[in-house]
Amino acid sequence: MMSELSKMKFYCDTNRCIECFACSVACAEAHDLPTGISRRKVITLFNGVEGKEISTSIACMHCTDAPCEQVCPVDCFYIREDGIVLHDKNRCIGCGYCLYACPFGAPQFPRDGAFGAKGAMDKCTMCAGGPLETNSVHERELYGQNRIAEGKVPMCASICSTNALLVGDAESVSAIYRKRVVGRGRGA
Ligand code: SF4
Ligand code: SF4
Repeated sequence: MMSELSKMKFYCDTNRCIECFACSVACAEAHDLPTGISRRKVITLFNGVEGKEISTSIACMHCTDAPCEQVCPVDCFYIREDGIVLHDKNRCIGCGYCLYACPFGAPQFPRDGAFGAKGAMDKCTMCAGGPLETNSVHERELYGQNRIAEGKVPMCASICSTNALLVGDAESVSAIYRKRVVGRGRGA
């Protein structure tokens, strides 16, 4: 079994995020997301307050002991050996329990049908697709690109020009962050 330190994680370095929205736009483009679905959001706190403004990029954090998985009544979720949390859209009944349980507001729901009923839940897959055949047309249609299967970095992190958005195993991500903190201490 893989250790917690080898599980895949996202981290956004707020000292580097410049609120350019490139991560969010690139994600939507890469996965052909319908209007209104935003797997990755950029949020700014203390907007306009000098010296206090802070921006960060948020998507599914692929939680350890994922709360979404624990509440789903039809067992949509599955957690890969590397920690990436995925789900099966063909099982989802659109109940929204996962959204209530998620501390990051990650699950998204396309409006489906004449009365605006909720469609199957959509969320960040860390560009790892879903339970269908890897890199098949069906996988791409339902979950977007499977870049992880091709050995590529998730689209959001690959496009981030300031390297604010980090992704990788927990140990590598925290090593980069520690190095940056030490660098900043030296005025770098
Ligand atoms: S959907 Fe929410 S609760 Fe589930 S793994 Fe992602 S961030 Fe965690
Ligand atoms: S909306 Fe879908 S994935 Fe979320 S808890 Fe309900 S059935 Fe499970």
